[in-house]
Amino acid sequence: MSTLPRLGILFVLSAPSGAGKSTLRAGLQQNQDFAYSISCTTRAPRPGEVQGEDYYFLTHADFERKIAAGEFLEYAQVHGNYYGTLISTVLEALIDKRDVLMDIDTQGAAMIRANEHPEIRNAFVDIFLMPESLDVLRQRLAKRGTETAEQIDLRLHNAEAEMREWKKYRYAVVTTTPETDLSNFRAIMQAERSRSSRLLFNPML
Ligand code: 5GP
Repeated sequence: MSTLPRLGILFVLSAPSGAGKSTLRAGLQQNQDFAYSISCTTRAPRPGEVQGEDYYFLTHADFERKIAAGEFLEYAQVHGNYYGTLISTVLEALIDKRDVLMDIDTQGAAMIRANEHPEIRNAFVDIFLMPESLDVLRQRLAKRGTETAEQIDLRLHNAEAEMREWKKYRYAVVTTTPETDLSNFRAIMQAERSRSSRLLFNPML
């Protein structure tokens, strides 16, 4: 990936479970013009998930050791498990002047929003992927078939709480079709990349 003539951006994407975030992420990753931030989690891998690609799967004890050592930029308990982003993951990419995409929950996004480090503040762009309704979410989760009925109820309960947070995000993309969601998200990325405050080159020289 080539070095950018501008500062790296931290694109933070949040959405309730089942809103279509994985599909959006897969679409975005077709064009690898950013580094995807791989999170740590204590949840068990789903079939097909790969250690170090989908997540860094950690034990509870390892995760708590990293919290104590101050290794996380943000972390939260989501659906009964820990999830978190290592500072090193994000800083390595930003220092390298690469954009970063993070897929994190609303608690984690709030933690980064409150971060006072100037590099993080300048880089931070938050986007909420908003489902049309809770009913649509319920149908999608049931169709996915990766969670038990109990887990679906927990995710829907959490979705309601997450959806109350959407106004705190700079951008909201209301989901329609995967293609439209992708092109709306790409438009936001492009606009943010074009902000003059981020450009490092001086065309007048
Ligand atoms: P899943 O178990 O479906 O992969 O993810 C569940 C939730 O955890 C999603 O809402 C996802 O955005 C969130 N999540 C994934 N990684 C992180 C992370 O590093 N930090 C936080 N705060 N949430 C995360």
